[in-house]
Amino acid sequence: MLSTPLLEWYDRHRRRLPWRGEGNATPDPYRVWLSEIMLQQTVAAAVIPYFERFTALFPNVQSLAAAPDAQIMAAWAGLGYYARARNLLACARAVSSLGAFPRTPAELVKLPGIGPYTANAIAAIAFGVPVIPVDGNVERVVSRLFAIETPLPRSRPEIAARAAALIHPTRASDLAQALFDLGATICTPTSPACVLCPLRTHCAAHAQGIMTSLPRKEPKKPRPTRYGVHFHLTDAEDRLLLRTRPQSGLLGGMTELPGPAWRDRPWSEAEALTEAPQRAPWRLLGQIEHDITHFHLKIDVYAAQLATIQAEGFLRPSHALDAEALPSVMRKCVKMAGKMTTA
Ligand code: SF4
Repeated sequence: MLSTPLLEWYDRHRRRLPWRGEGNATPDPYRVWLSEIMLQQTVAAAVIPYFERFTALFPNVQSLAAAPDAQIMAAWAGLGYYARARNLLACARAVSSLGAFPRTPAELVKLPGIGPYTANAIAAIAFGVPVIPVDGNVERVVSRLFAIETPLPRSRPEIAARAAALIHPTRASDLAQALFDLGATICTPTSPACVLCPLRTHCAAHAQGIMTSLPRKEPKKPRPTRYGVHFHLTDAEDRLLLRTRPQSGLLGGMTELPGPAWRDRPWSEAEALTEAPQRAPWRLLGQIEHDITHFHLKIDVYAAQLATIQAEGFLRPSHALDAEALPSVMRKCVKMAGKMTTA
């Protein structure tokens, strides 16, 4: 069975990660779910401190469900892809009212923020359901193992069908995690360590010497650029004017510096200043750049100080911004004004 050498390797070399059970303990569904949501589009090393902070603040799904939205958004700030945090909260509340996480992919996928991959991951890892969650690591391993040359994303159905050959009837949880670990540590994107790989003798890409050319990918469309203007306004007590973005849409519910909606052409200074929250001696500090899910963003940051602020929004002391739900892009803007040390 193809999974046997992989599981033997996993038993010796499994990564220790905070969301995994110790030894042979079955992982806690809450910790599996939380880690899978955090790991979407984010590498494990970046997730670990957030995961540890979240599980210290909210040790189970009930405590997360009972937490105020603002506390969760603030704990999430910096991890990006904020729709995940909103769905996280909605899902925690749904699971809390159900009493426990459902156990099958068909039931899990009905919960907010849980797509087919995450449903399979929770079902396999936390409940031992014999399914393979196919993430980027598994796509790479399976494409190479079976020398699948059709480019992604067209190859996904074939990859899913081939991955099924790896299913182990009684060790679904370990098998899923073994594939993740193999992809993360041995079958890496640019320099797979085939000499250390437990699947080497079964691997078609290795036999043909085409490992590093797989998986093939359709050429990416260039990422468009959008342009923004944000205003850093403080009062005589060094309190900063902030506001909350609308709940729906990009960065929904997060905190931001005031500014107009981002658009697809640059702003002249005269245009930008018509959007200022209040008349003030504005000066252009410079421009920050940031990649958001589907586009590149260039933001001109203007700053001013006034004795009092009358504009709409709320004021926060400049020295206490770390607790605010400021997404990374806004942290960069504030940092440009010299008010934050971390972005
Ligand atoms: S032999 Fe090499 S290419 Fe094949 S699965 Fe192992 S690490 Fe990946």
